[in-house]
Amino acid sequence: MTIELIPLPAFSDNYIWLLHDGRQAVVVDPGDAQPVLDALAARPGLSLQSIWLTHHHHDHTGGVQALRQATSAQVAGPARESIPQPAQPLQAGDCLTALGLRFEVLEVPGHTAGHLAFFCPDAGGQALLFCGDTLFSGGCGRLFEGTPAQMLGSLDRLAALPADTRVCCAHEYTLSNLRFAAAIEPGNAALAEHRARCEDLRNAGRPTLPSLIGLERAINPFLRSREPAVIQALTRLDPALSPDDEVAVFARLRQWKNEF
Ligand code: ZN
Ligand code: FE
Repeated sequence: MTIELIPLPAFSDNYIWLLHDGRQAVVVDPGDAQPVLDALAARPGLSLQSIWLTHHHHDHTGGVQALRQATSAQVAGPARESIPQPAQPLQAGDCLTALGLRFEVLEVPGHTAGHLAFFCPDAGGQALLFCGDTLFSGGCGRLFEGTPAQMLGSLDRLAALPADTRVCCAHEYTLSNLRFAAAIEPGNAALAEHRARCEDLRNAGRPTLPSLIGLERAINPFLRSREPAVIQALTRLDPALSPDDEVAVFARLRQWKNEF
């Protein structure tokens, strides 16, 4: 049976990712139960098997208890964070199986201290990544609990995944991220092209996600903080910045985005 991947919009800009094979379903980061219950009701015969959580923030976990009451779904999430219990505690190196697929658990601290990502090397011939609020299309999560060095390491880990990996981010922040990205790299043609495509998608009311790792490597300044054009933009902004200090460069990039 073929596997379908659906972003369920929630709140103003969240996506709850639904993966299903027509019989069993997994959701990632259900901040609200209702979009998931609606999606299940629209597909008779589909039952929610698993709820996977990338991190503890309420906009990713707020729907868990209601979904637990309405379904027999099992919850799994970061061992190092406070999440709705009972939940299977996950850490780096663990594996999750659902719908006949095997997902590796990655630890990607930065946005939160115990943030996880779920990576499936082969979901119907293409790799698949659920990365919560760590990597966004054209951007990355804010550093609420982690250090710039941790986030840079986490993004390096995700950037090293296969180029054709579908990237399922938990927010539709793409257009504002790409506006910032274009201010940093006005000469990046792939970025300008992606931005135009995403504007068309949003004008048509469609998600810009999933993205692809290969595309993000070409357009996302937070995966490109060692590129000369990005370093130059930052040293122009802050002449005191040492271009050889990659963590300082990344930290300055994240700070500039916060102020943008
Ligand atoms: Zn978050
Ligand atoms: Fe979030």
